[in-house]
Amino acid sequence: MAPDFDRLRDDFPILKIAVHGKPFVYLDSAATSQKPNKVIDAISEFYRAYNANINRGVYEISEKSTEAYIESKSKVARLINAKGMEEVVYVRNTTEAINLVSLSWGEKNIGRGDHILITEMEHHSNMVPWQILAKKKGAVLDYVALDADKTKLDIESLKSNLEKKPKIVSVTHVSNVLGTVNDVAYITKLAHENGAVVLVDGAQSAPHMKVDVKAIGCDFFAFSGHKMLAPTGIGTLYGKAELLDQMQPIFGGGDMIKTVEKQSATWNDLPWKFEAGTSNIEGGIAFGVAVDYLEGIGMENIDDHEKELTSYALEKLSSINDVAVFGPGRDEIGIKTGLISFAIKGVHPHDIASIFDSEGVAIRAGHHCAMPLVVTLAPEKAVSRMSFYLYNNMADIDRAVQAIERVRKIFKRK
Ligand code: PMP
Repeated sequence: MAPDFDRLRDDFPILKIAVHGKPFVYLDSAATSQKPNKVIDAISEFYRAYNANINRGVYEISEKSTEAYIESKSKVARLINAKGMEEVVYVRNTTEAINLVSLSWGEKNIGRGDHILITEMEHHSNMVPWQILAKKKGAVLDYVALDADKTKLDIESLKSNLEKKPKIVSVTHVSNVLGTVNDVAYITKLAHENGAVVLVDGAQSAPHMKVDVKAIGCDFFAFSGHKMLAPTGIGTLYGKAELLDQMQPIFGGGDMIKTVEKQSATWNDLPWKFEAGTSNIEGGIAFGVAVDYLEGIGMENIDDHEKELTSYALEKLSSINDVAVFGPGRDEIGIKTGLISFAIKGVHPHDIASIFDSEGVAIRAGHHCAMPLVVTLAPEKAVSRMSFYLYNNMADIDRAVQAIERVRKIFKRK
């Protein structure tokens, strides 16, 4: 049976608030998602009923918190089709996951003159760590270009860059500015044929679609819990066990060791080797609850729902004068997720977002942490972005369209 997307809105208490006296519409889930009661309650229940450190205590509530934390990793492993929880390293977010790879795998495997390949549609999280590594090691950072429409990656550019035999290809699954879904299975296949290791930034894909790391074939996959109904401060680095096994930890301390002597130590098993110190226990547990919630609805259903909303929004926007939309259009809805960056001629994106706010509609404006891309899209070096999730509906989009009409009226656009 198809899920009742309108009913599930009741699970998200924040959707009932008023902003500037108007019913709140949240269209900024690409920045962070809202949380259902089940997740909020799981955090509260942890502190009320079984708050204890994990992997240490021999008393009942510590065993319970350890079990819940481990179970959550198993759920995340199942969600992305990893081999098991040993391939699920909990980190704070996507940014930390990518930095872990650049600092550990990169430290060992990148040398002077080596090539690192990323793309022109990366978020700063998948750009700056590689810049730091390249500077440190004297390596070369190359970029796959966008196609002429600036909507997709240019596959010829990918192929010619692969001829330089990069050691690693690090690419986003979905652009947080364009909404473009990259064919990461194909990119991984080409990269592997050329001897590269592949990292996929899944920050904007894991929350919105079925992800299968085995089918993609990538070596690493990074994503953030807070964009998929879980709290902030918890995210995942998936890595193939054979690669994680060969990597050195980047933090030393409690929990990540097996034995410690005065001058040396040996490392714990995966994934604990990479999780030094006390973890974000309640975040991890709540992440598992968020995964249960998403799976209860079905990732394919969420994907379909967002496609319907996006298609509806693109159609509405196409009929408004002076509105330009970035990224794939309705004719390419198969490679677009539920986010739309747009501009209104002659109006600064920050003014657009402020007027939306006065109408009770939250959207984001700015460079979206993708400066090198956004400067090529708009002279203001900023765009406005509305992004959807499972709790949005057509009425939310109608409110966004009304807000655009208000912007046009204030700025006297014809
Ligand atoms: N990559 C992409 C594509 C993103 O959209 C984001 C978040 N905007 C990130 C990485 C970084 O995520 P986080 O801030 O949770 O580390």
